[in-house]
Amino acid sequence: MVAVSMRVLVAGAAGFLGSNLCDELLRNGATVLGVDDFSSGATENLSSALKHSNFDFQELDIVAIHEDSLSDRTFDVIFNLASIASPALYMKNELHTLKSGSIGTLNLLQLAKRNGARFVMASTSEIYGDPQVHPQHEEYFGHVNPIGDRACYDESKRFSEALCRTFRQTYNVNVGIMRIFNTYGPRMHPGDGRVVSNILSAALSGTTFRVNGTGEQTRSFCYVDDLINAMIRFATVTAFGPVNLGNPNEISILELVHIVENVTGKRVNIEFAPGLSDDPTRRRPDISRAFNLLNWEPEISLEDGLLRTFNWLSTFN
Ligand code: NAD
Repeated sequence: MVAVSMRVLVAGAAGFLGSNLCDELLRNGATVLGVDDFSSGATENLSSALKHSNFDFQELDIVAIHEDSLSDRTFDVIFNLASIASPALYMKNELHTLKSGSIGTLNLLQLAKRNGARFVMASTSEIYGDPQVHPQHEEYFGHVNPIGDRACYDESKRFSEALCRTFRQTYNVNVGIMRIFNTYGPRMHPGDGRVVSNILSAALSGTTFRVNGTGEQTRSFCYVDDLINAMIRFATVTAFGPVNLGNPNEISILELVHIVENVTGKRVNIEFAPGLSDDPTRRRPDISRAFNLLNWEPEISLEDGLLRTFNWLSTFN
């Protein structure tokens, strides 16, 4: 799928998605440089990539990139995944999150311009906020609180998208925007407060899973391998998008708890807690654009994906 000679920069390489992306790019024959500042990533995620002769790594904050940074390398594709994604963690690192999405994205876009590279931006379904349109299609502008608890993340991604548009319009940089919906799988951080890791950890360790609000709020969960497949396809086209990438199978949090119990054979103890501020009530991607553009749709069922993730988590603990 990726040309054997393709030289790729992955920013955010030590994270959940970044490390899975690096492994798949390497399997496809690409040469990969990963950069990360370890604000939420971990070296262990790179253990297989680091064994590969086509992989290099540099510890680097994308906010600190300047004109001479990475000047000894040439890239055909630059993926920007460098942003803390867990709400619990970005709320403790608001300024870092805002700077990564703004200054960091600007720095990487300038690098893409110098290299004549395809720039692939990892944006998010969070730019739709608490959506008033359902399912969410790419024409929808969103419903985001610009000064709410999640604003540092949501607005930094919205700003990233505006920067991407400007670099495409003004400098003709080959930019594409992916709006990624909730994704789960091996290497997600078990303790980072995201819902799938919380429920699976509760099933594994017998701890209590806290349901924020009624548990009737819905999400749509995509298994990581399906997402990485779409990301690599998107790198090889020239479309701007934005393109929603996710799994349209929508379920409530309480339904997810029951599926985890069925799949793992473990009981999940739950307790109800007050709802989180600005927590979206419904979330489901319209992926018709991704299907038409990339000939892609998710293939891995929620049951299968949850079991794979649970098995990974069991060896991890
Ligand atoms: P993650 O936290 O596991 O990975 C993000 C990585 O970026 C981490 O390794 C972190 O250390 C690194 N990073 C953060 N700021 C940086 C900076 N300034 N310079 C260099 N490195 C930096 O999160 P993830 O789930 O792998 O998400 C990857 C990307 O995909 C993020 O941009 C996120 O916003 C986006 N995304 C993820 C999801 C999801 O469900 N996982 C959904 C929507 C969007």
